[in-house]
Amino acid sequence: MSQLNPHAGSLFMVAAPSGAGKSTLVNALLAKEPDLRLSISYTTRAPRPGEVDGREYHFTSVEDFLAKKDNGEFLEYAEVHGNYYGTSRVLINQFMQAGTDMLLEIDWQGTQQVKKQFPHAVGIFILPPSIEALEQRLKKRGQDSEQVITKRLLAAGGEIAHAPEFEYVIINQDFETALSELIAIITATRSRFNQQAARNSDLFAQFGIHANLS
Ligand code: GDP
Ligand code: ADP
Ligand code: 5GP
Repeated sequence: MSQLNPHAGSLFMVAAPSGAGKSTLVNALLAKEPDLRLSISYTTRAPRPGEVDGREYHFTSVEDFLAKKDNGEFLEYAEVHGNYYGTSRVLINQFMQAGTDMLLEIDWQGTQQVKKQFPHAVGIFILPPSIEALEQRLKKRGQDSEQVITKRLLAAGGEIAHAPEFEYVIINQDFETALSELIAIITATRSRFNQQAARNSDLFAQFGIHANLS
């Protein structure tokens, strides 16, 4: 259990097989929800065309990544599709303590590690409408080589096998429908009793409502 007040901010984790539309959905969500902060992960993967260091990821060398890992700088880290990915512990702690809602785009291995430290974290899994659609989307994105696409398609089943560990599942068939479902999950989580009590402590005190911050 984290030493932080687990109710100070909400922590969302979004996972999906590569190509399901996770990043597109998350970017559309962030455009509509300015009070939600995206955690920028560290990765040893090479930048795709158009990706900017510090925007999509902090791109780093294997050597630097392993040094950071040994230094305890990652809240979680995992090897995914042959590259390392990790979430900055300092960044998450800072924002969580400030009461900022955070969103992590991480794989199932990272989700499990975060849950151990933040049991109230909310896991959201994005499913494509079919395997064929997943393949088409990976090809349409046009940013990965044929070899990388094959690797990611082969890994899709492994990621999907962990879908039952998540609180919510969104089927990303119609994009706007999927986006409104994602927004609904964020809104519902923010309306949880403990989250409201932490955000509105003066109001709750006025009414003599005592939060059960166990
Ligand atoms: P995408 O599948 O098209 O989003 O491709 P990416 O290369 O952006 O991500 C590859 C995988 O790494 C995905 O499963 C991500 O969820 C995962 N990933 C990204 N950042 C992190 C992180 O900080 N920690 C962990 N554990 N996984 C991450
Ligand atoms: P991920 O982050 O899960 O790997 P992306 O967000 O990069 O996936 O999306 C993969 C591709 O699928 C992109 O080209 C994106 O525009 C497209 N896409 C996302 N959602 C939909 C949808 N509902 N219908 C059709 N195409 C979609
Ligand atoms: P991509 O290389 O396509 O950007 O990401 C591939 C996968 O890595 C995605 O499934 C993504 O969720 C995962 N990923 C990205 N960042 C992290 C991270 O910081 N931690 C973990 N565990 N997975 C990550």
